[in-house]
Amino acid sequence: RPRALSGIQPTAGSFHLGNYLGAVRQYVALQETHDAFYMVVDLHAITVPQDPAELRANTRTAVAQLLAAGLDPDRCTLFVQSHVPEHAQLGWVMNCLTGFGEASRMTQFKDKSAKHGANQTTVGLFTYPILQVADILLYQANAVPVGEDQRQHIELTRDLAERFNTRFGDTFTVPAPHIVRETAKIYDLQDPSAKMSKSASTAKGLINLLDEPKVSAKKIKSAVTDTDTVIRFDAEEKPGVSNLLTIYATLTGTTIADLEQKYEGKGYGALKTDLAEVMVDWVTPFRARTQEYLDDPETLDAVLAKGAEKARAVAAETLAQAYEKVGFLPAK
Ligand code: ATP
Ligand code: MG
Repeated sequence: RPRALSGIQPTAGSFHLGNYLGAVRQYVALQETHDAFYMVVDLHAITVPQDPAELRANTRTAVAQLLAAGLDPDRCTLFVQSHVPEHAQLGWVMNCLTGFGEASRMTQFKDKSAKHGANQTTVGLFTYPILQVADILLYQANAVPVGEDQRQHIELTRDLAERFNTRFGDTFTVPAPHIVRETAKIYDLQDPSAKMSKSASTAKGLINLLDEPKVSAKKIKSAVTDTDTVIRFDAEEKPGVSNLLTIYATLTGTTIADLEQKYEGKGYGALKTDLAEVMVDWVTPFRARTQEYLDDPETLDAVLAKGAEKARAVAAETLAQAYEKVGFLPAK
């Protein structure tokens, strides 16, 4: 079986709809076809300040949401990044293979550091794509399910894997991004030119999966659309409506063409009212399942202990090979 690897940050407590449609849904699907490794990336979370107690709680909430979304610990390896020390260890080696200019070209860093300002921007935020390279290469992953915003980081991963292999001999699998075009970028409901984001969206633009369902319904109903009235998918001319159609089609397993037909001659109000209902029907059981996992910390801890053990077995082997290739003296 080919390998898959991906990670999600525990920064906001709740996942948002973009995380689910762009990434987590694909994690669930790839369990069937891949030897899949999924982790909650707490090392990445501390690239911006975190309250320690909140970080711990949010990490558990992230794991509970992944289980609620359909990850099955018998069919994938689910773990917390900091439980596997090899990530930081290989991360250092990768730092030493990356050009400063190369790292400086990462657009996510440019965006995020511009937002935080130079004095609030950590070196960790600058080097986090390189840690991500290590995350992926440790598992010899073939496929990396992510949203469009991560494409550049997967490109960096491919470059560094090839660089290492050329310099030191074949060691790492060169991974490919697994990006599902239709849902690769879910947009902010208030600003359909920007991606829905844990850290950048305003509250009204962001559907948090763990919010009260009626709060999410209200956000759908007040989503920004356009002054036209026709319900038609057109990402250029009608980004707001197109975003709603994408969400609607994916959550209900219908096609955009079917929806366009269903809403022919109807107004945006009808579309939003129906989608709000779809949203409520989806998040209500999702929230309940998440709460069940949170109410059972022993089971959750057992899942993570088993996951960390399985992950470490793979990661330790890859790290040992990389250390040897680099020329580190083996410890006796
Ligand atoms: P931040 O804005 O702080 O980076 P985030 O919203 O991007 O947070 P992450 O935990 O960084 O959340 O991303 C987890 C996964 O969700 C990644 O694979 C990312 O590509 C995907 N993703 C994030 N936002 C979207 C979106 N709006 N549409 C589709 N996929 C998304
Ligand atoms: Mg992100």
